[in-house]
Amino acid sequence: MEKVYDVIILGSGPAGLTAAIYTTRANLNTLVIAGTKWGGQLQLTTLVENFPGFPEGIQGPDLMNNMRKQAEHFGAEVVDSEFTSGDFTRQPFTVKAGDKAYQGRAVLIATGEDTKWLGVPGEREKIGRGISSCAPCDAPFFRNKNVIVAGGGDSAMEEALVLTRFAKSVTIVHRRDQFRASPIMVDKAKANPKISFILNTQITEISGENRVEKVKLESGIMNQELREMISKNKGIILNEDEEKIYWEMPIDGVFVAIGHIPNTRVLQGIDLDEKGFVKVYDNFRTNIEGVFVAGDVHDQRYRQAVTAAGFGCAAALEIEWWLSTKSEG
Ligand code: NAP
Repeated sequence: MEKVYDVIILGSGPAGLTAAIYTTRANLNTLVIAGTKWGGQLQLTTLVENFPGFPEGIQGPDLMNNMRKQAEHFGAEVVDSEFTSGDFTRQPFTVKAGDKAYQGRAVLIATGEDTKWLGVPGEREKIGRGISSCAPCDAPFFRNKNVIVAGGGDSAMEEALVLTRFAKSVTIVHRRDQFRASPIMVDKAKANPKISFILNTQITEISGENRVEKVKLESGIMNQELREMISKNKGIILNEDEEKIYWEMPIDGVFVAIGHIPNTRVLQGIDLDEKGFVKVYDNFRTNIEGVFVAGDVHDQRYRQAVTAAGFGCAAALEIEWWLSTKSEG
C-alpha cells in the first residue's frame, strides 16, 4: 500500500472517466475504482443520440469503452473492483476496493445513481426494448406510439411532456390519487391533450414477444373515470374482487420515472442530503477537504451523460488546483 495516488476516482461512468482524462493529462497519478459492473448507467442503454460528437448516435457501451480507453491511454489505472469503504478522516485517504487498499491525496466521488425500477416481471429483460428511464434519450424511438410513464413525481410529469413531442399518446400511471410532483408540473401535464392519467394503479407485469406489447395493472377503485380509462386504452379486465381490479392493456413502451437511488451507501463521513445524494459545497467539494464529487451522485436535476461528463471535467480541474495549492503550501 506504499504508493500514494494523487487522485482516486470512485466510479467509472461519464463523470469519473472524464475526470480521469483531465487528471491524467494534468500529470496527476490517477486510479479509477471502476466497480465490477463498470461504466455506469450507459452500459444499460442502447443508442445514445444526444452525446455531442456522434451525429449518427453511438451505442452506450461503445461510448463508455471509448471513454475508458481514452483515460487509460493517458495513464489512468483502472481496477474493476467494487469500492467497499473509505477512510476520509486523515490524509492520505485510504480507499478499499475488492481485497485491496489504496491511498490517495484527493478523492473524487463519482459513483452515480441507479434508476429505481418497478421490479415487476418482464421489466428487466425489456430495458432498451420498449422500457426506458430517460425520455430525453429515447423519446424519438416512440414516434406515433402509445406509451406509459410510471410515477407521480416531477420526473414523471417531465418525461411525459418530453414524450408528447413524439408519441401518439402518453398515459401517466400513478399508484396514488395524489401527485408528489409540484402543482405547476401537474398543471402542465394536465393541459397537454396527449397526456392522460390512470390513478390508484400499479403496473404488475410487462410483457411482449421481443418488445413491450402489453402491461398488467392493478387498480384500487372502480369508478366511472377508471371504467373510461380502461375502455379508452382498449383494456381487458382479467379479474375483479372487492378491493382490486386486475386488468391489462396494450402498450408500445413504458418509461419508468419513480425515482433514483444514489450510490452512496458505503460512503462514511460524507454529508448526504435527505434522499442520500452527496451534498455539494463550493466548487464540487464535499464536507471533507480533499474529497470532491461529480455527476449523478449529486446532480438530481440534469442526469445526462454530457452533464455528468462536464461535472467530471470541472471537478478534475478543481482537484488539480487544490492539489497545486497543497504542493505549494
Ligand atoms: P420523486 O419525487 O421521489 O417521485 C417518485 C414518484 O414515483 C412518486 O410519485 C412515487 O409515488 C412513485 N414511486 C416510487 N416508488 C414507486 C414504486 N415502486 N411503484 C410505483 N410508483 C413508485 O422522484 P422524481 O420525480 O424522480 O424527482 C426527484 C427530485 O428531482 C424531486 O426533488 C423533483 O422535484 C426533482 N425534479 C425536478 C424537476 C423539475 O423541476 N423540472 C424535474 C424532475 C425532477 P408516491 O408519490 O406514492 O410516493
